[in-house]
Amino acid sequence: MLILVYARMLISMQVRKDMEQEISKEDFYKQGEELFGKDFKNWAFCCSSCGFKQSQASIVEIMRKDGFHLSKRYGKITLANIQELKPRIESECLAPECDYAAYGLIPSTFCTYGGMQVGNSFVFKFAVEVKS
Ligand SMILES: [Zn+2]
Repeated sequence: MLILVYARMLISMQVRKDMEQEISKEDFYKQGEELFGKDFKNWAFCCSSCGFKQSQASIVEIMRKDGFHLSKRYGKITLANIQELKPRIESECLAPECDYAAYGLIPSTFCTYGGMQVGNSFVFKFAVEVKS
């Protein structure tokens, strides 16, 4: 068990190192709008650990097909959860087989789409395309 925890920590450190890319809030919004338009629902992010690509819209699309979305991290996710942006699409993986969060176990800052401190917060990189 300890070996698994240690391996996970090493992988996590490597992932964190790979995603070190400081970006200002202004540049973050500019990049997001250029890629996906002004509607945040369509902003897609790629999990740093498993590569799952997700946006608010893509998770809702999965729900439309299956009636719900199961996440390893949260269990059953409802439409209300997604509409409230909880969990945070930009930094918490919602893949059924992954529970990675970009900010780590204990978040040092809380960010939402409305007030993101990208320079101090960890978010997933943008995904170019999303498959649901
Ligand atoms: Zn993931």
